[in-house]
Amino acid sequence: MLLNLRDISVSYPSRRGPVLALDKLSLTIEPSSFVSVLGPSGCGKSTLVRLVSGLQKPTAGSIEFDGVPASGARDDVGVAFQQAALLPWKTALENVLLPIRLTGQRAEPALERARSLLDLVGLSGFHDRYPHELSGGMQQRVSLARSLIRGPSVLVMDEPFSALDAMTRENMMVELQRIWLDARPSVLFITHSIQEAVFLSDRVVVMSGRPGKIIADVPVDLPRPRD
Ligand code: ADP
Ligand code: ADP
Repeated sequence: MLLNLRDISVSYPSRRGPVLALDKLSLTIEPSSFVSVLGPSGCGKSTLVRLVSGLQKPTAGSIEFDGVPASGARDDVGVAFQQAALLPWKTALENVLLPIRLTGQRAEPALERARSLLDLVGLSGFHDRYPHELSGGMQQRVSLARSLIRGPSVLVMDEPFSALDAMTRENMMVELQRIWLDARPSVLFITHSIQEAVFLSDRVVVMSGRPGKIIADVPVDLPRPRD
C-alpha cells in the first residue's frame, strides 16, 4: 500500500502560543518498503507515528493510503510502541488477539493466526504464559505479533527495541527482518539507532526539530537477504 503524507503541519497549543511540531512535512512510502526515521528528541517522530496510525489528525496537509484520504484508525495499519504494553492479566496469546476481539471478527481463524504469529516470533511453547513470566525481549516479540495480527499492509514502529539490551536488540532486528521478508508490509520504523536504520531499511529519513522537518532522505543499498 502506498502511503502519502503531503505538506503535513501539526501544531500543539501551549501557554506561550502554538508549538509547531511538524512543518510542511512530505513523505511517500512505497508498497513493501522499509523506511527508517532518525532524529533528535522533540523533532516530531512520535507525532508522525500518531498521524500515520490514525490516532491524531494533522493541523494542515493530507494523509492518503493508496490515494484515499485517511480518516481515523485503520485495520490495515499495525502499530508497535517502545514499551510492549501487554495486559498483565492476559496470556501472550490473548494479548496478541486483543486487536481482533475488539473488531469482532470470528474467533477460530484469528486464534490460529495468533498461534502462528507467536511461533513466527520464536515463542512457540510460550502462548499461555503471562507477561511477567516472559523476558523483556519476549514481551516485545508478543507486541510485535500483536501488531501483525490483522495482517497490516503498513506497520508503524516507534523505537520498538530501545528498551531492550544490546543482545536482545540484535536478535529482534534479525527477527523483524525475517517477518518483513515473509509478510512484506510497508514499514515506518522510528529509531535513534543508525545501526538499526542501516541494517533494516531501504531508505533512511533524517529529521531535525524546532520545527520538525525532513532534512535528508537517502536510499540504503546494502547487500542483505531480501528474496
Ligand atoms: P519526538 O517523538 O521526536 O521526541 P514529538 O512528536 O513527541 O517528538 O514532539 C514534537 C514536538 O511537539 C516537541 O516540541 C514536543 O514538545 C511537542 N509536543 C508533542 N506532543 C505534545 C502535546 N501533546 N502537547 C504539546 N506539545 C507537544
Ligand atoms: P530476550 O528476547 O529478552 O533476549 P532471550 O531470547 O535472550 O530473551 O532469552 C531470555 C531467556 O528466555 C533465556 O534464558 C532464553 O533461554 C529464554 N527464551 C527466550 N526465548 C525462548 C524460546 N523461544 N524458547 C525457549 N526459551 C527461550
